[in-house]
Parts: sequence; C-alpha cells; structure tokens
Amino acid sequence: MKMPSATPRFRSIFRAMLNRIVIIAALSVLGLGIVNSVMAYQSSLKRSNWLAKSLASTHAPDLIDLVQARHARAIEQLLASMVAYPEIASVSFNTAAGSVYQSGVLSANSTFDLVLPVQASGDEQPLRGKLSVSFDKDYLRDGVMAEVLSDALLFTLFMLVIYLIIHRSFSRHLRAPLSEIALYSQRLADDLRAPPLQLERPARPWRDEIDLVSDGFAALREGIAQSMAERDSVVEELARERDQLDARVRERTDEVRQINNFLEMLSRFSMSMIDQDSSHQGGAMDDAMEELSGRVGASACGIATFSNNGNWRWRYVWRGPGVEPVYNEAEALFGIPRSHGWSVGNDTLLSNSLTCAFQTQDRGYLLAFYGVEQAPMLLMEQRLLQMTAEVFFKLIERWQHLDKLEDNRRELFRLSRTDHLTGLANRRYFDEAKIIEGRRAQRTGSPVSVLMADVDFFKSYNDILGHGKGDDCLVQLANMLAHHCRRAGELPARLGGEEFAILLPEHDAASALEVAERVRSSVFDLGIRHPGSPLQCVSISIGCATWWGDRNAGAVETVFDALMAEADQNLYEAKSSGRNRVVASEPESSLSERPA
Ligand code: GH3
Ligand code: MG
Ligand code: MG
Repeated sequence: MKMPSATPRFRSIFRAMLNRIVIIAALSVLGLGIVNSVMAYQSSLKRSNWLAKSLASTHAPDLIDLVQARHARAIEQLLASMVAYPEIASVSFNTAAGSVYQSGVLSANSTFDLVLPVQASGDEQPLRGKLSVSFDKDYLRDGVMAEVLSDALLFTLFMLVIYLIIHRSFSRHLRAPLSEIALYSQRLADDLRAPPLQLERPARPWRDEIDLVSDGFAALREGIAQSMAERDSVVEELARERDQLDARVRERTDEVRQINNFLEMLSRFSMSMIDQDSSHQGGAMDDAMEELSGRVGASACGIATFSNNGNWRWRYVWRGPGVEPVYNEAEALFGIPRSHGWSVGNDTLLSNSLTCAFQTQDRGYLLAFYGVEQAPMLLMEQRLLQMTAEVFFKLIERWQHLDKLEDNRRELFRLSRTDHLTGLANRRYFDEAKIIEGRRAQRTGSPVSVLMADVDFFKSYNDILGHGKGDDCLVQLANMLAHHCRRAGELPARLGGEEFAILLPEHDAASALEVAERVRSSVFDLGIRHPGSPLQCVSISIGCATWWGDRNAGAVETVFDALMAEADQNLYEAKSSGRNRVVASEPESSLSERPA
C-alpha cells in the first residue's frame, strides 16, 4: 500500500551549490598541496644534488692539490666551506690513500645521499678520492613545507575571493530574484488576483533566464486573470440564467396554475350547467358569465347565436353592476367574421373587447367580452378563450337539443293522451283524469259527475254522407263539447268511434244534468244536416251519473267503473227512449244520491 509521502524539507539550491563549491575547492587545495609538496621535494632534492656536484667539481682541483700537499687543515676548512650551505648537512672526503676527512654533523646510522669521485680534469685521470655528501633533510622538508604552505595559502585566498564573488553574484542575481519568484508563486497560489510580479533587479542592457521566468509568470498570471475573468463572466452568466430560469419556472407554474383554475372553473360550469332545466338556464348562464368576466377582467359579457333566418341575436348578456351599455350591443354583431370555422381575438370594430366565434353554414355562436383593459391576447389566452367558448357553445347546443327533446317528449305525451281526430282527450287520458278527480272528490267530499254521449244514427250519417263528412261532424261536436267545459278539471274526451264522455268535477247531479242538457241542445242547435235521422239534423244522447266523494265507497277505480256503467245505462235509456235527450239517474238510485 502506498503511504502518503510527507513534504520533503526545504533546502536552498543556492546554499547547496555553495557547499558543493566549497567542498570541491577544499579537495582541490588538498590534491594540489599533495602534488605540489611531492614536486617541491623532488625539485629541492634535484637542486641539492646539483649544488653538491657543482661544489665537488669546483673544489676538486683544490682538494687534489691539498691532498698532494698533505694539508689536512686546509682540506677540513674546504670541507667546512661546503657544509656552510644549508642544504648540506655533512661532507666526508676519502682519499685514494685511505685518509678520511669529515665536516658537519654525521649521526651514527646516517648514510650519505651522494658519493662523487674526485679526480683531475679528464676521464683518464686517476681517482684521487671520493667525496660523500649527506643533505640536511630537515632543511629540505622545511623548504618544501614552506613552499607548499605558501602555495596552499595563496590558493585558498584565491578560492576565497572566487567564493565571495560567486556568493555575491549568486546571491544578487539568482537567490534574491528566485526567492521573490518563490514568494510570488506562493502568493499567487493563495490569491489568483495578486498584482503582477515586480522583481527588484539592477538595470542591465540584456535579458537573462530570470527575466524569461518573470515573463513566464507575467504570461501565466495574465492567462490566469483572463481565465478567471472568463470564468467569472461564465459564472455570472450562469447565475443570471439560473435566475431567469427560476423566474421562467415561476411564470410557467403560475400560468399552469391559472390554466388549471380556469379549466377547473370550466369543468365546474359544464358539470353544473349541463343538465340545467330551461327555467334555470338563464340564471346559471348569468352566474357563469359573471365569474368568467371576473377572470377575464371584463365588465360585460354576451353570447350570441346565429338563428335560422340568417340573423345573429344576443341570447345571453351579462353586465357588471353599474355598467351601462356604452355601445349598442347589436353593433358588436357586425364585427363577427363571416368566414366559417373559429375566429378568436380582439374585436376589430370595438376597442377593449375580446371575441370568439364559431360559424358554419347553418349555425353560429359568438362569445364576447367588453370593457377588457388588456394588451392583444397571447396564444395561450386565445386557446383558453376558444376552449371556454367551446364549452359554452356546446352547452347552448346541448340546451337547444334538450329543449327540442323536451318539446318532442311533451308532444309525444300530448299525442299519447289526445284523440288525433278531434284533439280532445283520449280514453287513456280520461281514465287517468277520472282517477285523479275521484281521489280528490274522496279527499274533499265534493261531488264528481260523468256524462256519456253518443251520436244518434251516426252509422247512417256515414253511409249517406261518407266517412269524411262523418269525421268533420265528429270534430264539430268535439269543439262544442270543449266549448262547454271551461272550468278547471272539466274534461271532455272521445272514448272511441262516435262516443264521448265528459268528466265534471265539483258538479252534483243537478249541475251535471244542466251541463248535459246545454251540451245536447247546443249540438242540436248546430243544425248539422243529417238525412238519415228522423230529426234531419245531428243530435246526441247523453247519460249522466254523479258520485258524492264518499270516503267509504271503496277503491276509486271500482267506484268509477260503477259510475261509468251507470252513465252508460242512462245513455242506453236515452237512446231507447227516443234519442236526442239526457237521462240522469233517479235521485234515490245508486251513486247520484248525496249521502246522508
Ligand atoms: P245509434 O243511434 O243507436 O247510436 O245508432 P248508430 O248508427 O249511431 O250506432 P252504431 O253503433 O250502429 O254505429 C256507429 C257508427 O259510427 C258506425 C261507424 O260507421 C261510425 N263511426 C265510428 N267511428 C267513426 C269514425 O271515427 N269516423 C266516422 N266517420 N264514423 C265512425
Ligand atoms: Mg255508438
Ligand atoms: Mg251512435
């Protein structure tokens, strides 16, 4: 596993270089000293040899003469003059005859360094003796040492001077600017916006590596500053965009919320209004238009439709409280585009208005808002407006369909209860009505009467005058019956063929008899020609029956069956007793008697 390495300690390159120079200089001094001392010793030895030889050759004739003259003392003096040279420690002269003369200090175990022959000039001369010389080693060593030391001292001094020059030069030209550069790079690491590097260096007419490094730093700093500026501007731009994005997201969220609220409102409108019955449609539409105008910021709102005759007309109009119609609403309709399909936007004719219209060949709708203080609509608002218009137009369309359906249903209902020829109630309606009136009579204890009428000799009428005339006659008779039934609840009905019935609530037997008589005489008074009748005109026979709403009489259905049967019986009697007459039950008989 690799351990994180600790930061190595700092060691000045300047000091390291100087140390190296000092070590090299010291080693050089040492090496030079050794070589110098060897060479000095050799040279000193050489010089001593040369001295000894030259003394020997110089004094050889004198020695030969003195030996011949047997002048021992002079020989010793001559030898002593040789020893007077500091290089020579001792001299010994051995003559050929065997005499020995010495001078200088000669230790017991010392040996001579040089032995020289002594003879007269010329090689063929006989040897007269040997001159042995021993050098003064201490003197030689001291000389060598002195020479070596002085050289070493000189060299050391020279090196010291060089060292000082190098030190000063390095210090001034390398260490100071490098330290400044190092400090600057540290500062730059902490603060990338540090001012440019300014090296304190003496003025000079050239440029060197330090200048190049300084230039490099300046370029680096410039680059850093530039990239930082770029980074700052990018960061700024990003921040701006982020802020804008936030704002846009907020705007969109608001928009979506508004749209949701709007759609919620539309869905609420459609849910609550879709099945609104016609009596509440106007009010519901008013409420919806008021809320919608509030949302749109309008003071008035209207919906117009395109009617079948090709004209537009306002169907619903809402105005805010206190808002007067400052324009003729009809005028607004002139601005409706005649093109088919959708058209949405600000009305071209009326200022401060928004309109949305849909038109086809045979139908058209317009939703318009007025008093809208706003700029031209955005696309989204146009879509919302169109969506709103669509909801309202569909609602109106649906309401129209519902109305039509209701009309149809009513018509069907009416037809299902109406006799198609005469327009009177048919048997089904009569049966329903008689039960309703019977219950009311039972509840209130009031009377209810029934008249059964039948056209006399009608078969022969048809036979003679034709079925068409017969139908016309029936219609005339029906109208006469209806004419006599004006009070509420009085119901004339055609039960089938040429048989009619009249339900008379609140009529007692006498009153019913009166009505029956009035009807009969009115029919007769019509004077419809009837060639097949003995009376020569159309007549009817009527049987009456009355019930006093007796609570104990039993089920109304049963009571009425009996009542109808009684009226039928009376009708039969009217027929059999000559026709064109009214027969009512005797007061004491059956249901016509008021209960005690
Ligand atoms: P009565 O005086 O006894 O009632 O004699 P009547 O001929 O009226 O009676 P009948 O029951 O024999 O004849 C009824 C006729 O009414 C038969 C038919 O020709 C005629 N009739 C029934 N329904 C219609 C109808 O809807 N239109 C026409 N034109 N005639 C009808
Ligand atoms: Mg009949
Ligand atoms: Mg008849």
